[in-house]
Amino acid sequence: MPQTGRGMIFDERARQEAEEGYNDRHDSEWIHGELADAAIAYLLHGRNYKHQLPNFWPWDIAVFKPKDRIKNLVRAGALIAAEIDRLQSSFYCPECGEPFNGSGGCSNLDCTHSVYPR
Ligand SMILES: [Zn+2]
Repeated sequence: MPQTGRGMIFDERARQEAEEGYNDRHDSEWIHGELADAAIAYLLHGRNYKHQLPNFWPWDIAVFKPKDRIKNLVRAGALIAAEIDRLQSSFYCPECGEPFNGSGGCSNLDCTHSVYPR
């Protein structure tokens, strides 16, 4: 029986961390939702945007490496897992993804986690 989707995503996330250095510290740099945007690009590839790089792809075109449908879904899943981990880290607001300020509140003044009066 082939490996499950859950197992494939787990293995891909481990591979990204071990071979490409995409650890939590690296991922914490993508504060504008880049990991989720990249996941969407992989989800769409092979669907509506078969041979196009979506304009919201966050990084250099050389890093976009779509494969077949299953591998693209696995990459998207691993990127989503990375984005969840980033949002749950103590350095970034879980609601909007912007960094917390020195006072422990969100630095985004429009966010409900902001410590500043509106
Ligand atoms: Zn926030």
